[in-house]
Amino acid sequence: MSKRDYYEVLGVNRDASDDEIRRAYRKLARKYHPDVNKEPDAEQKFKEVKEAYEVLSDPQKKAQYDQFGHTDPTGGFGGFGGTGSGFGAQDFGFGDIFDMFFGGGRRSNPNAPRQGADLEYRLTIEFKDAVFGKNVDVVIPRTETCDTCRGTGAKPGTFPEVCSVCQGSGQAEVVQNTPFGRIVNRRVCHACGGTGKMIREKCTTCTGSGKVKRKKKINVKIPAGIHEGAQLRVSGEGEPGINGGPPGDLYITILVKSHDFFKRDGDDLTCELPITFAQAALGDEVIVPTLNGRARLKIPAGTQTGTEFRMPGKGVPRLRGYGQGDLRVKVRVVTPTKLTEEQKQALREFNRLCGEYIHEQSNNFFDKMKKAFRGD
Ligand SMILES: [Zn+2]
Ligand SMILES: [Zn+2]
Repeated sequence: MSKRDYYEVLGVNRDASDDEIRRAYRKLARKYHPDVNKEPDAEQKFKEVKEAYEVLSDPQKKAQYDQFGHTDPTGGFGGFGGTGSGFGAQDFGFGDIFDMFFGGGRRSNPNAPRQGADLEYRLTIEFKDAVFGKNVDVVIPRTETCDTCRGTGAKPGTFPEVCSVCQGSGQAEVVQNTPFGRIVNRRVCHACGGTGKMIREKCTTCTGSGKVKRKKKINVKIPAGIHEGAQLRVSGEGEPGINGGPPGDLYITILVKSHDFFKRDGDDLTCELPITFAQAALGDEVIVPTLNGRARLKIPAGTQTGTEFRMPGKGVPRLRGYGQGDLRVKVRVVTPTKLTEEQKQALREFNRLCGEYIHEQSNNFFDKMKKAFRGD
């Protein structure tokens, strides 16, 4: 039987956002849910919708599907099965009517292999390291499988037994009467926590959990040009898998310390450079610090305060693509304070010499202002 395209099943475009996909799914799942819809093909449609959503709501599966379609080389999406993240109450808000249908309703085998949880770690790095990149060792506290019991939680030499409350299913049934009819809600068995197993003699190393907390050192390569808030994914360094499933991933969120002199603006660096009035008026060549040494910058005569000069290629290496951003230097003309008598004298003389010019400028200014008030 040829399968319908998942996007077509949900009635969304191929570029639909996660939100649109979720909304479309919820609408259709409500419509075709067998407890609501009594049409003969409703159940089939419901399953189709559910399957489409399980794939399109999972970034990894979605990417595979987008690339390979239904003929996935790893043997179809049923093969993923164990991630445990595809479907469950956690996808929806509490109190939603949807929870009544699906809350804890997964009938998956509690002992099936499941992928371990992803971990998030926040790493603060120096401004310079964000620009040039660096290898950093991070120590991640995480859970690992207990070596003593190999993760079973049972004392070595003993084995976990089948839970006597749920007979190993890991679930307890709760029957509810609702406006939609009688709904059987399956919840996690309290006696065994959903594992379907009971441990008589617990492993003393992990006190029966099968897991121990450990710190692990991981070397992380920070690429040059990384931005504040960027996330690096370290595959397989999350929490260990459950029942032999694959481990989760580690996500490292990068926080960048600020710099005394430079600021980042995308791939450009910006800074402010104080110059004297004389330098601004006469022009000068100044030394500007850059992140990899010093560079010369020519200040043309008659530069106004606030003028920005661009030094190409003196910025941050581009994370994607080639080359580097620019360094943008904004000059600030500093008004001198604490003048000596001689300097004051020189400025008075200077002022006298430009008297006419200043006078002319201010006349222009006052003329303009008068005109503005008169309205012509
Ligand atoms: Zn143990
Ligand atoms: Zn149980």
